[in-house]
Amino acid sequence: MQIESLRQRLRDLGARPVHEQHLLRLWTRALPLDTTTVRRPEHWLPAEVRAALPGLQAELNGLATLRSAHPGADGSVRLLVDLHDGQAVESVLLPRGGVCVSSQVGCAVGCVFCMTGKSGLLRQVGSAEIVAQVALARAQREVKRVVFMGMGEPSHNLDNVLEAIQLLGTAGGIGHKELVFSTVGDERAFERLPTLAVKPALALSLHTTDAALRAQLLPRAPRIAPEDLVEAAERYARLSGYPIQFQWTLIEGVNDTDAELEGIARLLQGKYAMMNLIPYNTVPALPYRRPDGERAAEMARWLNRRGILTRLRNSAGQDVDGGCGQLRARALDGQAT
Ligand code: SF4
Repeated sequence: MQIESLRQRLRDLGARPVHEQHLLRLWTRALPLDTTTVRRPEHWLPAEVRAALPGLQAELNGLATLRSAHPGADGSVRLLVDLHDGQAVESVLLPRGGVCVSSQVGCAVGCVFCMTGKSGLLRQVGSAEIVAQVALARAQREVKRVVFMGMGEPSHNLDNVLEAIQLLGTAGGIGHKELVFSTVGDERAFERLPTLAVKPALALSLHTTDAALRAQLLPRAPRIAPEDLVEAAERYARLSGYPIQFQWTLIEGVNDTDAELEGIARLLQGKYAMMNLIPYNTVPALPYRRPDGERAAEMARWLNRRGILTRLRNSAGQDVDGGCGQLRARALDGQAT
């Protein structure tokens, strides 16, 4: 189900814009759609809409259902979420009121260090299924921030992701800056984001400043030179008023070199941006390793000394298959239920 088709169904039942907005508000906040929550006279629903509510509620609840929850020591909870057709995606409840949602089942970018990339793209996640992941999270804890950093490349499912963002930033009550669109960098996203009423913050997965290495690590990402990515991101940062969050999955012996530090300094000095260094979460099935903790800390210190605001972060719930796609991969093997 798409959000627009849900809106159309409500209109066909006689819902006026105020009713539509009210019901969408309840859904996005994980509140029951039943009429007992409707107090203001202008929200009194037409009889046909009221009659359809139980069926609609069941349908919306079925868009994303919890298969299993895996709490991590850091306060995050990784969720394995079933979609209505039996496909599964991962969401993560993050510490301090965030949720990370998936925009695709699988992913076509094929990053060599990512389990999700291994499967290729299986299907798009519908706009209503994206919002349903947020509603599912809100049924469990307060959510004030939504990051599109789960399974999938949001730019490859752009219409659905942007439709979800528009709803979450309006009826969903999430601050626009607290909606974080994450991408490997795609012209279509750079063109569309500036035109939106709800402009999300932008996270850009850079991973290396070496174009040839980037083509190896992210084999099917658009071939945009790192310096051009940074320039496109900088234009959006200035327009939106939010700094770009550059993401750098730190892999031992691959992109933890002094040459990369010099490259980051060259590209990001003076930019409205911050750098998140995220030590790789080692996956037994893949040949990449997490760098030594001291090396990661030293890199963050070096960049901060050069005036590039840098944070050393861990992927949430790394003690419970914290790398994107690991939980789903284990479920397919029958080990996570
Ligand atoms: Fe896709 Fe992100 Fe995994 Fe790359 S890291 S394959 S973009 S899900």
